[in-house]
Amino acid sequence: MFISFEGIDGSGKSTQARRLAQALNARGTETLLTREPGGSEGAEQIRRLLVEGRGERWSPETELLLFTAARRDHVERLIRPGLDRGAWIVTDRFADSSRVYQGVARADLRHLVEELHRLTICIEPDRTFLIDIDPTVALARGQARGGAEDRFEGLGLDFQHRLRAGFLALAAECPDRIRIIDGRGSEDEIAARVLEALE
Ligand code: C5P
Repeated sequence: MFISFEGIDGSGKSTQARRLAQALNARGTETLLTREPGGSEGAEQIRRLLVEGRGERWSPETELLLFTAARRDHVERLIRPGLDRGAWIVTDRFADSSRVYQGVARADLRHLVEELHRLTICIEPDRTFLIDIDPTVALARGQARGGAEDRFEGLGLDFQHRLRAGFLALAAECPDRIRIIDGRGSEDEIAARVLEALE
């Protein structure tokens, strides 16, 4: 079983991915928790190039190629081997992040995102949980945590609103795979919603 978590920056998806992986392991289901960009040694190296680039170093097209290269390595080295031996995979972001960040919000590259995915990735999660939250709430949470390592503040609220709309549009396109989880409330409440949606 291959599960991904998606959402805007500060949505709480990383916490929820971790909690689901813990809950599954506690039930005796071997579950690997991983993330994108990253998740394998090579992909983590590419992550550093991307995150340190902070959206200024690369053109949108080059950035998409780097994210795709990182994903390919992640799939080859970790996701495929894990699934082949029967483990469950829980990933904090996967291809939907590229569909929305690179395909819609940063540039109009949706067609290229899909072509690259079809040619080089060729795998889709069985289930995707979109942790949906108003960007203003996510921003307030991030500030309460003492600032984020990511580009949220640099890119601003407008960008996060575009991302949210992009994720919701994608969920409407793929209702069987993508389940929208209300990201408001406590960690425990959201974790319970995820488990309920998985059952
Ligand atoms: O989710 P996480 O915070 O680890 O993502 C790292 C950074 O990469 C974030 O700033 C996120 O906005 C960005 N990102 C992106 N395109 C993706 C995935 C993540 O711009 N496809």
